[in-house]
Amino acid sequence: MKKGKEKSFKTTCSYCGVGCGIIVQQDAKGKIRVEGDPEHPTNKGMLCSKGLNLHYVASDYSDRLLYPEMRWAKNQPRQRVSWDTALDRAAAVFKSIISKYGPDSVGFYISGQCLTEEYYVANKLAKGFLGTNNIDTNSRLCMSSAVVGYKMTLGEDAVPTCYDDIELADCFLIAGANPAWCHPIVFRRIEKHKEENPDVKIVVVDPRRTQTCALADLHLQINPGTDIVLYHAIARHLIEENLIDDAFLAQHTDGFATFREFVLQTSLEEAAVICDVSVADIKIAATYIGQAKGFISMWAMGLNQSVIGVDKNLALLNLSLITGQIGKPGAGPFSLTGQPNAMGGREVGGMANLLSAHRDLANPVHRQEVADYWGVPSVPAQPGLTATQLFEGLRDDKVKAVWIICTNPLVSMPDAGMIEEALKKARFVVVQDISGRSDTLQYADLVLPAAGWLEKEGTMTNSERRISYLNAVLPPPGEALPDVEILCRFAQKMQFPGFDYNSVGEIYEEHAGLTKGTNIDVSGLNYADLIEKQTIQWPVPVSGNAGTPRLFQDKKFYTPNQRAQIHTPASVVNQSEPLTGEFPLVLTTGRIRDQWHTMTKTGKVNKLNQHLSKPFIEINPIDAALRGINDGDTIEINSARGKVCVNAVLTTDIKTGVVFLPMHWGKILNRDFGRTNNLTNNLVDPKSKEPDFKYSAVQVQKY
Ligand code: SF4
Repeated sequence: MKKGKEKSFKTTCSYCGVGCGIIVQQDAKGKIRVEGDPEHPTNKGMLCSKGLNLHYVASDYSDRLLYPEMRWAKNQPRQRVSWDTALDRAAAVFKSIISKYGPDSVGFYISGQCLTEEYYVANKLAKGFLGTNNIDTNSRLCMSSAVVGYKMTLGEDAVPTCYDDIELADCFLIAGANPAWCHPIVFRRIEKHKEENPDVKIVVVDPRRTQTCALADLHLQINPGTDIVLYHAIARHLIEENLIDDAFLAQHTDGFATFREFVLQTSLEEAAVICDVSVADIKIAATYIGQAKGFISMWAMGLNQSVIGVDKNLALLNLSLITGQIGKPGAGPFSLTGQPNAMGGREVGGMANLLSAHRDLANPVHRQEVADYWGVPSVPAQPGLTATQLFEGLRDDKVKAVWIICTNPLVSMPDAGMIEEALKKARFVVVQDISGRSDTLQYADLVLPAAGWLEKEGTMTNSERRISYLNAVLPPPGEALPDVEILCRFAQKMQFPGFDYNSVGEIYEEHAGLTKGTNIDVSGLNYADLIEKQTIQWPVPVSGNAGTPRLFQDKKFYTPNQRAQIHTPASVVNQSEPLTGEFPLVLTTGRIRDQWHTMTKTGKVNKLNQHLSKPFIEINPIDAALRGINDGDTIEINSARGKVCVNAVLTTDIKTGVVFLPMHWGKILNRDFGRTNNLTNNLVDPKSKEPDFKYSAVQVQKY
């Protein structure tokens, strides 16, 4: 669309899973500015602080990686090389390692910020041609517990609801999430809906009194890790007050009798003590839910990032099932995805335990279907190493080479000391990124400069199954290349067929073809249609189909018998690390409003740095007084794995016995100042393999 010499383009925000539509205006000199797309169904013209400042990030080349760099030995400095030299070397090292140690001696660690087509090519490369399922992503740290919960309950990794259900609901349970800061446009829609409909009820479950609680009718400030006990108590009250949907349960679910018997074993009084909330408040929450015409549960990392993350998800999903609040307008469970394209990555099977198009890696027929589609003899059956396992493999010299794309594990992974040790021991580390600010670069043997947002095209899928198109508007700086081109060039150096695509659209359509006949079928949506429509929700099985805003309206679930499965998780309280006299406090971690992940992008924007400019710890004044700590003091936090120094923020917003650290900062000045993941443990949920960032045992003291 042209306007004088000025051009404008539609695209999608590259940060969180809300997936807001953006209009990019480019003036005659090439300068860009951004605004919310008023026609986009998700954000309707709104953008949060991060989205509003994306043009600064896209126009600031000061930190950009411009040329491939390589070193021949660990004790040598990296030097600029040509793309051919860099990728010849990568191919030679990968071939040599694989021939000596087998395909599982290499691995890829990629990102929920990669575009779907990048994910597709990386997955095809690893599983189809290198012969390893060792491809995992930082989405493992984000949604994998929710994925397992959905699959066990609904038979598919499929969010049933959509953002348009927000305005149709009259009760929200927001659990382990702070959308006011982390999913701001979703929160703004809820806020506006409540402003216009004051009877809408909002219950927030969180050990911290976050900004989201300002909107809540009820804040249940539970003890960390007691979520399941709380949801079971709410379920008990719903059952006892006959606020459940007996007809739905009888016709469309299995497992209710066992669940009912189990939750009736714990009294509300017992649950209230375990959770540290009142019986009255449990009853109020249950009554709001039970009396709602439309009930939506929303959750994020407070549930997922836990050693009992899957069970927390199952317990919360049960509240929607026993009340029949699913598969109808204004109702359903709604996981809030952290990253912009975690869902798109899963659609192409881009994780260690997944197969393309939501096929089942354990199913030999499914594996053969994918292998045949790619023109290879087979896809390996054994699941690959998940995020934490991959780095443990490097540390233990079982994995020799890792290719890291668009993520900064040295800051974002739990137990950063272990990650550091792993990267030091790795024989060959490839880092493919846009930014020289990535801490992980210090361990790279090969650096591959990638194109950033607005410099490459492709698609992403947001939290509501909405596929959106991202436009290429600017040329990448220096010799940077789109990630997909880097991967295809590498595949060609490896002499693999099937990577000579002429366009990103060809890759999208290859992926779409593989979804035909599955629950996530998008074979009815070709690339040209997607560009024209800009955004549409899967499945889109037939050409001309308008997409699917809501799943399960026919009450037929994706399980073998088409009934939703009510599982009964044990009422376990998460104590992944027992508290001791040495480490008596629970550390929980999370995001702040204006920063994204490890700040390689948002940290460049002065406006965003002004919100909270330094790392800090939130501590209750009672815990602080016991240690002689005053507001603003520099304090040292210790765990069994390491230490961090930050300034203290004394606040009653956090419970006694709990402290909070933001996850964004890396090592500052190469000291122990700032990097939260020096402290966190790398224990994982046994089913989802998602790490537990919400429960590490620590001690704090004055520095
Ligand atoms: Fe971007 Fe998320 Fe903010 Fe929307 S809410 S502008 S997707 S960061």
